[in-house]
Amino acid sequence: MSDCPYYTTCNMFKEYANDKTKEAPLFIFSNLYCKGPSQAKCIRKKVADSLGQESVPVNLLPNGQAMIGTKGDGWPEDVKKLLPKA
Ligand code: SF4
Repeated sequence: MSDCPYYTTCNMFKEYANDKTKEAPLFIFSNLYCKGPSQAKCIRKKVADSLGQESVPVNLLPNGQAMIGTKGDGWPEDVKKLLPKA
């Protein structure tokens, strides 16, 4: 499995790089999505492909949830439309 084409520029990793509480989830998401079998299901990738990488909220997780301790209330409507239905 090739790494996701956005891997080196995906701002979520840079944003939380110094936050020890996010280390484990980022490691898991990276292995599962960025370098793994769920890459095609990544919601960050879906938003980047549809709206451009600059439109991906930094706290949007690959599974469509907001990063632990954050909320997605302020995400733009065009991003929300691409999220998985609850
Ligand atoms: S989080 Fe998603 S968009 Fe970002 S590098 Fe990983 S698979 Fe690609």
